[in-house]
Amino acid sequence: MTTVKPVNPRASVAATLVDDMSFDGPVPAGAFEFFNASGFGPDAGILFGCPCGCGEMKSVSFKSERRPTWQWDGNREKPTLTPSINILQLDEGGRQIGEHWHGWLTNGEFRSC
Ligand SMILES: [Zn+2]
Repeated sequence: MTTVKPVNPRASVAATLVDDMSFDGPVPAGAFEFFNASGFGPDAGILFGCPCGCGEMKSVSFKSERRPTWQWDGNREKPTLTPSINILQLDEGGRQIGEHWHGWLTNGEFRSC
């Protein structure tokens, strides 16, 4: 979810595994790393640069008690997640006004749907 306007809501980009998501500035579209979560250990989900190119960091969880979770196929270099990832577009008041980017991470590529 974000209030930042999408750069390209139909973008499809390669998912690129990186060692460190601490970028000095915008996060490159499709850059990702696995994160650890307390109580869930390593590979608890991924952080990723929004595929639209807006430079925001997003995340999805594979293991969580509270948040929605995704299934990961176990491939680190070319991951596939299900279901789709829907980043919602919010207005300044936090109300949903549409989709920011909606697509799938399949075989190492973020594909818009
Ligand atoms: Zn974006």
